[in-house]
Amino acid sequence: MTKPHWSYPLYRLGWSGLDWIFPPQCGGCDKTGSRWCDECQAKVPCLNDPWCELCGTPLRHTGRCQRCQENPPPYRALRSWAAFDSPIRPALHKLKYRRDMALGDALAVHIKRFVDSLGWEFEAIVPVPLGEKRMRERGYNQVALIAKPVSLALDSMYRPAALKRQRDTRSQVGLSAGERRDNVRNAFLADPNFVRGKSVLVMDDVATTGATLTSSAEALLHAGASQVYAITVARALPHHGLNLI
Ligand SMILES: [Zn+2]
Ligand SMILES: [Zn+2]
Repeated sequence: MTKPHWSYPLYRLGWSGLDWIFPPQCGGCDKTGSRWCDECQAKVPCLNDPWCELCGTPLRHTGRCQRCQENPPPYRALRSWAAFDSPIRPALHKLKYRRDMALGDALAVHIKRFVDSLGWEFEAIVPVPLGEKRMRERGYNQVALIAKPVSLALDSMYRPAALKRQRDTRSQVGLSAGERRDNVRNAFLADPNFVRGKSVLVMDDVATTGATLTSSAEALLHAGASQVYAITVARALPHHGLNLI
């Protein structure tokens, strides 16, 4: 287990204080009492081995999936905590559209544990950024609401300015794998001052084909990162039965 940064207990205390003033609602089921209730936690459709050793897609065997055998991604590994299904799906929706920062902190506890279990060595955490236009509209990056407390909990550097979108990309929703890749190709630019020579963990909320993380990793490596790992809270899977590929 990694030791948290000294400020992490204070960060958490801030949210507990707020809970005392405004009784929280669960991000998964809306029940009053906690930000993330025990029942929802018990229902999280966690992903486990066997998965593709590179892209983390659930498989029936160990090794690499077909796609990674033919075209290995630039990152060392991508893993997702859970399938993009209830209760993670409504929770991520809230995080994205209702600026539920305290929920970000509650989920971060579990993401931190998941990252710890993977045994990866990295020095900095970088959230996948929004484009300027979307950032203006929304006012915040929902991934940062999780990435920041995770970096405090792991006592690693939090580097939200390391990666920028060079252009506003359209939403990936409804696009095919090839279209997704084209949509985000060269979409990111990384700042060497933050990542040169460093092992970096890039974080996003949901992965579908992994195109955004592939493009992010390419930019980080181009800026001199020594290696890139990728993590998402959730993975969108064609069937939740996980019997794909
Ligand atoms: Zn709940
Ligand atoms: Zn794969």
